[in-house]
Amino acid sequence: MRRSSFGKFNLREKRHLYKLPFPLGVLLPFFPPYKVSKQNRVIELNAQGVALLSGDEAIALAAIHCGVVLGTGYPGTPSTEILETFSDLGGKAQWAPNEKVAAEVALGVAFASGRTLVTMKHVGLNVAADVLFTAAYSGVLGGYVLVCADDPGMASSQNEQDTRRYAVAAGVPMLEPADSQEAYDFTGLAFEISERWQIPVILRVTTRVCHSHTIVRPDNKFTAPLQPCFKRNIQERVMVPAHARPAHRRLRTKLAEIEAWNAKEGPNRVIEGSQDLGIIASGIATIHALEAAPETSLLKLGMTHPLPMESIRNFASRFNRCVTVEEGDPYLNDALLAAGIAVEKRLANYRFGELNVNRMRHLLAGEEEPQKVPPRAKPPQLCEGCPHRSTFTLLKELDCIVAGDIGCYTLAAMPPLQAMDTQICMGASIGVGLGMRHTLPEDQARRVVSVIGDSTFLHSGVTGLIEMAYNAPSTGHVVVVVDNGTTAMTGLQEHAGTGRALDHSRAGKVLPEEIARAVGIANVQVFNPLRELDLFEVALKAALKSNDVSVFVARQPCILAAAKIKAYEKTIAETACDCECAQPVTA
Ligand code: SF4
Repeated sequence: MRRSSFGKFNLREKRHLYKLPFPLGVLLPFFPPYKVSKQNRVIELNAQGVALLSGDEAIALAAIHCGVVLGTGYPGTPSTEILETFSDLGGKAQWAPNEKVAAEVALGVAFASGRTLVTMKHVGLNVAADVLFTAAYSGVLGGYVLVCADDPGMASSQNEQDTRRYAVAAGVPMLEPADSQEAYDFTGLAFEISERWQIPVILRVTTRVCHSHTIVRPDNKFTAPLQPCFKRNIQERVMVPAHARPAHRRLRTKLAEIEAWNAKEGPNRVIEGSQDLGIIASGIATIHALEAAPETSLLKLGMTHPLPMESIRNFASRFNRCVTVEEGDPYLNDALLAAGIAVEKRLANYRFGELNVNRMRHLLAGEEEPQKVPPRAKPPQLCEGCPHRSTFTLLKELDCIVAGDIGCYTLAAMPPLQAMDTQICMGASIGVGLGMRHTLPEDQARRVVSVIGDSTFLHSGVTGLIEMAYNAPSTGHVVVVVDNGTTAMTGLQEHAGTGRALDHSRAGKVLPEEIARAVGIANVQVFNPLRELDLFEVALKAALKSNDVSVFVARQPCILAAAKIKAYEKTIAETACDCECAQPVTA
């Protein structure tokens, strides 16, 4: 363990510190822990009180300092480390089955006046959107901050949708930090805005903000949270049409007030420079712009919904030439042009991928960037020794049409296996497979199999399974749950099927085969795809011939997770109470 300038604390000691009873506990804001520990890495505050933190770590630290009662979410790159760090620091954090459930649990916290942090990646907001749109109407009491991490360039995603469109569509305020200091500061600000206007707030981050490490001075000067309590308010919490109509009007009034506040006191600033060019920027694009053109005048927008339109108009009017720079959609560009503000229309190619300083130089020059031939690279594959390999090899040998899903096993679509035919979004394998079964000629329909991972099945596959039980195709259908005992793609997180919580302590366990039997699937079998491949093959061939619906669970731990899973289970067994409750022994 490394020693900080202020003494040493390991993870366990820090957790203990945050649980100190009064009066020592009240001193903690003034004597925060000086390390942020994540797995084997330790980051220290130096003698000047600053630390080098990723954006994700900075958000987690701010959540601790803001007194967040519960952090919840679903893992998704690049947001996953927020809740892991929050938990490492002693915060109460949990993985939900999916983002909608996380957003609902968080809403309950905020209805009870607690502060809550919900984390997800951009595509997760599609799942949580149902909650967000109406929570904007109902409002909240405690601070509700939804951190949504966008992935421009799709380093690890199926699309590069821009969360800023959601803020506008749902009618919620949105902050966009550009570095880790702002990630820390804006998290606290988001809670203040949320509580002041009783509204959920989106904190939109992007890959480089999440994963880049920049200096943070965690000053911990946030407002204190409310005391959790229940306050009955049926008109504002029960969104039947008679209540929702005035709620919508209230929402629009709040947004008008927030826009006025944003123009006057919002986290936006002008960096004065030469008068040749004015740049209007948000998020990480600001950092690239400052590096590419340090001498230029720049309006940096920290709150990008509602936009401080009059401030922007005043800034833009000072320059003969004014450009917007932003990663993702032309969100600012469209909004400013629509408001009649004289900015240049952004060239279409800059909406694709991440920005960097070189691209920024071309963008600021108003020119197309030179098109580069991407370097040749070996396509990614399933790991050597991966338990999924035997399952997909079998499906290929049987000439199955595979409706696949989201997870590391999607790599089975790549050469040399090429054993997956479709993949759209979390849980879609079952519905898409059923659709093909309903449509294809019988000889082809009988070859269709849906393949879904364990975490993905619990996230969004259950409703597809209910559809299969309810509207079974005439040729039946086969679902294979490839259960590797972890959420491998995002970094081996726990989920509801592992029986362990986010911090790897004992939790409830939900098994796919039990869900399948509960919804009425008669043919449910569990195989080890390595040791029982012959049995699995026989069962699969029979299911493909029959007109019944079948669920097969191919269960074998991911080789990258197996040792860790053993260690977690050993720790749980060693610390479990001797009696039948099997709960951990606490001091
Ligand atoms: S991470 Fe695990 S489950 Fe995923 S491809 Fe690698 S070995 Fe297989």
